Amino acid sequence: MKVLLHVCCANCAIYPIKTMRDEGLEVMGFFYRHNIHPYTECVKRQEALQAYAEQINLKVIYQEGYDIEGFIQNVAFRESERCNYCYHDRLRSTALLAKRGKFDYFSSTLLYSKHQKHDLIRTMGESVGKSVGVPFLYQDYREGWKEGIECSKQMGLYRQHYCGCIYSEKERFYREVS
Ligand code: SF4
Repeated sequence: MKVLLHVCCANCAIYPIKTMRDEGLEVMGFFYRHNIHPYTECVKRQEALQAYAEQINLKVIYQEGYDIEGFIQNVAFRESERCNYCYHDRLRSTALLAKRGKFDYFSSTLLYSKHQKHDLIRTMGESVGKSVGVPFLYQDYREGWKEGIECSKQMGLYRQHYCGCIYSEKERFYREVS
C-alpha cells in the first residue's frame, strides 16, 4: 500500500515514517512550502529534509513556487484562526497529489506534533479525504514524541524554533518592551 505523507519538517517525519515502514507501507513525502516564512527559513527546512531523505532513502515531492502572498491574503483579518486555513490547504494539496499519483492513502506529519490541534487535523483530514476520494490515514504519532526528538538530535538535523508562518514567529519571539 502506498502513502503520500505531507511532511512539515524532517524532525516531525522521523517517527511517522518509521512507524509506517514497520507496518509495511510504502511512503513518499510531500513538502508544502507556502506556510513557512520567511523564505530563508523555508529553504533551511527543505535542505534539512533533503539531507534526511537521502539518509533514509525517502522519495519526496517538493512543492513548486513560494506563495507567501496567497497564504497571507487567505488568513488576513482572521489571523487568530489562521491554522484552520493552513491545515486545510496542506491536507487538501496532499490529497489532490495523492489522487493524481494513485496513492492508497494520504497522511500528515502534523499528527506527530504535540503543538498542533490534533483532533482538528484528524477531522479535517478525514473530511478532505472523503471530498477528494483518497482515504486519510490516521494514527496518533504523538506517542513517539520523545523518540523522534532524540533521533533528530542524534542525526544533527536543523531544529526550528517556531511553527512556520510569520505570525507564529512573532508569537514565539516578540516581547513588549515596557
Ligand atoms: S501557526 Fe503553524 S499551523 Fe498555524 S498557520 Fe502558522 S504555520 Fe500554519
